[in-house]
Amino acid sequence: MIPGPFSYHRPASVADAVKLLSTLGDEARPLAGGHSLVPMMKLRLATPEHLVDLHGIGDLKGISRGGNRIAIGAMTTQHELLASDEIAKSLPILRETALLIADPQVRYMGTIGGNVANGDPGNDMPAVMLVLGASYHLQGPNGARDVPATEFYQGAYFTALEPGELLTSISIPVPEAGHSYAYEKLKRKVGDYATAAAAVVMTMSGGKVATCAIGLTNLHETPLLAIDAAKAVIGSGLDAASLKKAAAAAEAIMSPAADARGPVEYRKHVGGIMVMRALSRALARLG
Ligand code: FAD
Repeated sequence: MIPGPFSYHRPASVADAVKLLSTLGDEARPLAGGHSLVPMMKLRLATPEHLVDLHGIGDLKGISRGGNRIAIGAMTTQHELLASDEIAKSLPILRETALLIADPQVRYMGTIGGNVANGDPGNDMPAVMLVLGASYHLQGPNGARDVPATEFYQGAYFTALEPGELLTSISIPVPEAGHSYAYEKLKRKVGDYATAAAAVVMTMSGGKVATCAIGLTNLHETPLLAIDAAKAVIGSGLDAASLKKAAAAAEAIMSPAADARGPVEYRKHVGGIMVMRALSRALARLG
């Protein structure tokens, strides 16, 4: 399929990109890696009249550590996340998740900013951002603001982004040394979006779970933070009974779409299994 006609713009700064997006209005869309937007355009599910390509903006690239936080520029690709020693050391769950996104071709082009700003419930990074307590730096015609990932997702493809606003970077607090993590993703085949996936970041103390955050992918129209599921395992040694309680609490908040990946009941069921697997693997990782 061939996309509809569009004009192409390539600003060199965030200020110019914001100005273009505000002037061109609703018919303009930022273009990052293009690996979600262009397929949508080819299917004519998106028909922007203007594409504002962010590749010429050097300020949107890079990974840096400042104190106890990691800043990741929106145009940093999934491949660059995988190649980063800082990410491997400080935020290993990001590395594990990036490796489960599509295939190397998609990861060379697809950006972290595009993945989290897209609002597609099937994207893997948003749930991970929820469990890590990330916040998004947005710049728009009315200035800059920071929005916690937990407040960003409002519905399928609906986010807190206002017209003309760009996500410029993501700020993530470095989890405690000695924390454990896992991202468990069930997919129909290599390179597929999740049928169901769960992210876990946790710490243990004296053989019991001390802190825990659980995130869910593609089990609702937005990524979910499964707060009651996490509470169900705090203070436990992750025995079979507490794992089952966590899965049940997570299933209670899931409302996945019935689609080619399966009916609702099946997806909720495997969603619960992903939660148990992620918790068990996070535990195993601690030895
Ligand atoms: P684009 O496609 O360029 O943009 C996506 C959307 O976000 C657009 O609406 C765009 O306007 C907006 N946008 C982009 N950047 C910004 C910004 N900085 N500020 C504001 N808005 C912005 N993803 C997964 O998570 N898991 C998968 O398993 C997976 N499998 C895939 C398989 C295939 C075959 C393909 C083609 C893609 C797959 N993807 C998957 C999607 C891929 O990860 C995309 O690259 C990603 O979702 C979007 O990133 P992008 O840089 O390509 O963004």
